[in-house]
Amino acid sequence: MNHRAISRLAFFFWLSFLLFTFLQPVQASDLETYEVSTSILNVRSEPSSDSEIVAQFVQGNELMAFQEKYGWIQTYYDGEEVWVAKHHLVQKDSLSTENSTTETSSTPNMVTINSESIFVRSGPGTNYDAVSSALSGDSFDVIDRSGDWYQIMINSSETGWIASWLTEQATQPSQNNNNTVPSNSMNLEGYNIVVDPGHGGTDPGAIGLNGIQEKDVIQPTSSKVIDHLRDAGANVIVTRSGDYFVFLDDRARISNSYYTDAFISLHYDASLNLSASGVTTYFAESGDKGLGESIQSSIISQVNLHDRGVRQANYKVLVNTSAPSVLLELGFISNPHDLSVVQSESYQNEVAQGITNGLINYFE
Ligand SMILES: [Zn+2]
Repeated sequence: MNHRAISRLAFFFWLSFLLFTFLQPVQASDLETYEVSTSILNVRSEPSSDSEIVAQFVQGNELMAFQEKYGWIQTYYDGEEVWVAKHHLVQKDSLSTENSTTETSSTPNMVTINSESIFVRSGPGTNYDAVSSALSGDSFDVIDRSGDWYQIMINSSETGWIASWLTEQATQPSQNNNNTVPSNSMNLEGYNIVVDPGHGGTDPGAIGLNGIQEKDVIQPTSSKVIDHLRDAGANVIVTRSGDYFVFLDDRARISNSYYTDAFISLHYDASLNLSASGVTTYFAESGDKGLGESIQSSIISQVNLHDRGVRQANYKVLVNTSAPSVLLELGFISNPHDLSVVQSESYQNEVAQGITNGLINYFE
């Protein structure tokens, strides 16, 4: 070890000393999503750089913060409590603000809402308060952009922010900017919803045609479900935020550690009978049948796949979850038609909207 390496090490220890001496433990007030901003990030067993390295995350991996201590963030990996250094993470909603200057060139002049009912917020992120809401078909003039969010004119004097992924570029001139409705008309504000993306990591789930793995179709679907639920005001808790394995018991335990209002496990089906097709919702306990029926009928009203109905099955993840819980099989990846449908972004958005509307109807 040369002199420079020793002084670098000394600096590192000094920095660690500072961190441990002056930072008091704090609880994360709310569940926050972070993205890894360094190329390789060590995942440790304890909130300390002396503790065991149990895994590594790479740049772009997303994780959910369950608590914060001494500058470390606790999340779950392989069903275990693990810790990563917070200074290598960027909070998900602040990412979009940093991108604002680079993306202004592609900002449309006017957009139309293509999602049933969305929030207009006071800032560019789901962490900002809803100031109003907008309905499918409403058009707005866009005055600025920050990452994935557009700043729009709500009326002649007020502005607000909407998620760009819930809009499309307007083709016709704006007819009506006063068509906004109060933000409390249809929302999930105050509800804790656990989204459980099935399988992951070493467990690929079902294998479909062309070797397509269930977990790889679940991943983009669940991110749309999460976005739609958050846009409806829900506090969304996710049992895994990347491609890694989580034990069924831990998925249930994550749900049981919150005042969870509903637990939704996302799956795709497969069968040796290649003609098997369609969407099925499963519940374990009879009390959850109503939740299943509300979500199944809402999904079926959005999508163009066969309705296989609501069925009872004692899936372990449902039995062990104390909140009302359902498991959704969102189409057969072993069926050529289903597979081409379920891989499309539009289908996954329809499913996400169906689940969101189904929950709104259920809680009403
Ligand atoms: Zn599955």
